[in-house]
Amino acid sequence: MKLIFLGAPGAGKGTIAKMVMKKYNTPQISTGDIFRENVKNETELGKKAKEYLDKGELVPDEITVGMVKERLSKDDCKNGYILDGFPRTIPQAEALEKIDKIDKVIDFQARDDVIIQRLSGRRTCRKCGAIFHIVNIPPKVEGVCDKCGGELIQRSDETEEVIKNRLEVYRKQTEPLINYYKKEGMLVGVDANTSPEPIFEETVKVLEKIGG
Ligand code: AMP
Repeated sequence: MKLIFLGAPGAGKGTIAKMVMKKYNTPQISTGDIFRENVKNETELGKKAKEYLDKGELVPDEITVGMVKERLSKDDCKNGYILDGFPRTIPQAEALEKIDKIDKVIDFQARDDVIIQRLSGRRTCRKCGAIFHIVNIPPKVEGVCDKCGGELIQRSDETEEVIKNRLEVYRKQTEPLINYYKKEGMLVGVDANTSPEPIFEETVKVLEKIGG
């Protein structure tokens, strides 16, 4: 199934996408992860994207769309994928329509207070990208990834100021996509205010329903 995971930063898209990927073997395509990987490796793309990531602004559409197009052309995307963090603007959604046909859009709905609490406590593995939270999903050993032993860090765009900007950017540029996909009859909402397990269970129910 070809899916879009929509929702504010911190709504749980990435965490749930990783759980769905494990259960169904569907690749998770996180544009944020791809950008961060490129910044870390100091590639040409990474150099272009860094200033936007640092401020919590969106990377320009033409760069992002080109990157996604290339990723979706890979063999592992033939039978389905989860787009996590893309599209984030109406022009990106329009460009995606020319690339592939999406089956459903899942909108992870979380309140602002929940989002801020999640983002400010989030820790990400520097090596494998696994996501933890100091209160909600604590690692077994503080500062160490359960999965690969890598160092857990706070993302540079998870300071209070940048979080605030990312939420504003979401409201202005990404939230209009909810109506866009609603009109197309593609949108399904999931209550994302609880914790990973119940959100995952609800997501699985939705997927089984639309998958037949
Ligand atoms: P995320 O990990 O999805 O929160 O993304 C982190 C950052 O990567 C965002 O704040 C943007 O700077 C950039 N980014 C990720 N996805 C997109 C996108 N679809 N369009 C533009 N910028 C993006």
